[in-house]
Amino acid sequence: MSYGEIATGIGVAAALYGSHRYAWWRPPVTWQTPRVLMYHMISEHRPGTRFNKLRVPPKAFRQQVAWLGKKGFSFGFASELFGNKPPSGKIVCLTFDDGYRDNLLEADKVLAEFDGKATLYLVEERDGGWSSKKKTHHGDDELGSEPKLSDDEVRELLTTGRWELGGHTRTHANLNQLSPEEAKEEIVSAKETFREKFSCEAPTFAYPFGIFNNEHVTLVREAGYLGAMTTDAGISPLPLQDPYRICRIKVSGKEGMLGFLMRMRSGKRGLTK
Ligand SMILES: [Zn+2]
Repeated sequence: MSYGEIATGIGVAAALYGSHRYAWWRPPVTWQTPRVLMYHMISEHRPGTRFNKLRVPPKAFRQQVAWLGKKGFSFGFASELFGNKPPSGKIVCLTFDDGYRDNLLEADKVLAEFDGKATLYLVEERDGGWSSKKKTHHGDDELGSEPKLSDDEVRELLTTGRWELGGHTRTHANLNQLSPEEAKEEIVSAKETFREKFSCEAPTFAYPFGIFNNEHVTLVREAGYLGAMTTDAGISPLPLQDPYRICRIKVSGKEGMLGFLMRMRSGKRGLTK
């Protein structure tokens, strides 16, 4: 093989790898369909830990929100996706799961800078009983030990007018491991708790770990939530087929701006995720 052939071979291999990793050939979903983005933490990575994809560095987050603003997206609360009048224009809903303290310390100042809004799917019991694990067993609980928002800090976020709360269960429960009664209690709890503690509603819900079954969907609807977020990667088309199974664009702390842009186009970065 000549040097040229080798170079071509490397080029083709790189292009194939690139096409798998970044599905640039997939047609974009129309920009009139709202994008719902899923975030957890806005923080620097912690070397050697498992969940750095859930940690979007502050600089990267700022770059993403700046891009959204520059491209003419309007920021909406999750509750605005549901109702009689479907949203129009280029809408983006930023959602944050769990209730990490950096949502106030890092994310909110970026929202303030770019006139952004976000929806916070807040676990009610954020100390002690909270678990980031699908199964309860002993050992290190990396996300459980991350600093969480105190109730006062949640109030601080709400007073900015930039945040809406949503239910995410009382204890970050794996609903599939609970009896129907227990699941119901976990699901409805936020409705009352948020009214009592924060004088606000929890109009929508997000399933912890994205784990749920058809009965949970019924419970969420019966609790009075307008809609619910899954952790399925994608962009749910309008009109919404099922408001209780909304896909989200997973923003990964391990991807750069290119990955973010691919996900904004089609809901997924590459061929499969
Ligand atoms: Zn969660």
